Amino acid sequence: LPAIFEPARPVLQKIEAAGYEAYFVGGCVRDTILHDEIHDIDIATSAYPSEIKAIFNHTVDTGIEHGTVMILDHGTGYETTTFRTESGYQDFRRPDKVTFVRSLNEDLQRRDFTINALALREDGEVIDLFNGLADLQKHLIRAVGDPNERFHEDALRMMRAVRFASKLDFVIDAPTLKGIKENAPLLAKIAVERIRVELEKLFLGQNPVAGLKDFIATGLYQYCPGLANTKDQLAILLVLNQWHLENEAQVWAVLSLQLQLDQSEVVKFLKKWKTANDLIAQVKKIIPAVDAIHQRNLTPSIMFRTGDSALHDANQVAKLYGWAIEDSELQKAYQRLPIKSAKDLAIDGKMLITKAGIKPGPVMGKIIQQLTLLVLNGEVANDATTLLSKAQELVKEG
Ligand code: ATP
Ligand code: MG
Repeated sequence: LPAIFEPARPVLQKIEAAGYEAYFVGGCVRDTILHDEIHDIDIATSAYPSEIKAIFNHTVDTGIEHGTVMILDHGTGYETTTFRTESGYQDFRRPDKVTFVRSLNEDLQRRDFTINALALREDGEVIDLFNGLADLQKHLIRAVGDPNERFHEDALRMMRAVRFASKLDFVIDAPTLKGIKENAPLLAKIAVERIRVELEKLFLGQNPVAGLKDFIATGLYQYCPGLANTKDQLAILLVLNQWHLENEAQVWAVLSLQLQLDQSEVVKFLKKWKTANDLIAQVKKIIPAVDAIHQRNLTPSIMFRTGDSALHDANQVAKLYGWAIEDSELQKAYQRLPIKSAKDLAIDGKMLITKAGIKPGPVMGKIIQQLTLLVLNGEVANDATTLLSKAQELVKEG
């Protein structure tokens, strides 16, 4: 048994001691065989959720209706899912019905790709019903069974295929790729949030160009919000070779830049994808900063408005296009800002009222803005006395 599974071994042993089968399954098995890092260990078992809960003292119901219970053991959580089959799929997404079964084989059959349908026994033996091990060696993504059927059952699997092509830097097997091409329109049935997760993982994978190439060639992009008929803009990404994207905000900034969206279109685009509001806010800061980096026009006021984290994101995005400046230079320039946020300003609204006799309202807002800019540009020192007299001057000037 690979060392990484050792801490989890007693969990399998305990389930087996109670008379059930249990295996490590899915991504953790695949990634261990590939010598990639794993993020979590998933377990599949013949025991029903109620039976798992009877065996372990510490469990959390994370998805009990689908058969998933999280077992907590020495501070680690193990998602433990009862063997199940799925049937129905009348709407091309999630099964109408999940049926618990007692056989591992049936459970492995419902999985999407051969490399994801491997199970690992407590004694280290790999159960490989569909030649997933050979596909891992060949770096091949191949549907379990008939691709056409599998994509009809669940159209999200098509996005998962292109996502794994990037994540693992694997090739999609020809019949599977053909299946995606033929069924791409079914993607329109899938909840946008689920598509989004896969698209983000594609951009953040080992070989985004490989995943994007398939995403474009199969026509999947046509059925994504805001991407229909954007083939030419998307195709430009295929010739870029400096991929250093680190997070979702950077991904969406790249897409927005590629589509040449203005600020209000960016918001509309991201709303269609149902992204969180703080992500939208971050992307809105990143885009003008990328432009400023590109134009070598990163003024103190732009850096101030952008902030540390969006500046970093912008420079990562700029790397993709060959526009970036040295990270250390960027850091230095940012650190040189006399103030980094509104609260660093030596005066605030209250002081303007009490010490400079300025009334609250739009005029005061404008004065604070002007003072901020003067301080940022090094024209006025950031101390209260200087700023208060400058404020009075500004009021007089109107
Ligand atoms: P990651 O490293 O991104 O977590 P993963 O393979 O673990 O990759 P998950 O989405 O966590 O992916 O799913 C766990 C397992 O469940 C998969 O390996 C696969 O066996 C199965 N699976 C997940 N989604 C589907 C699906 N839509 N259709 C069929 N099987 C799926
Ligand atoms: Mg996983």
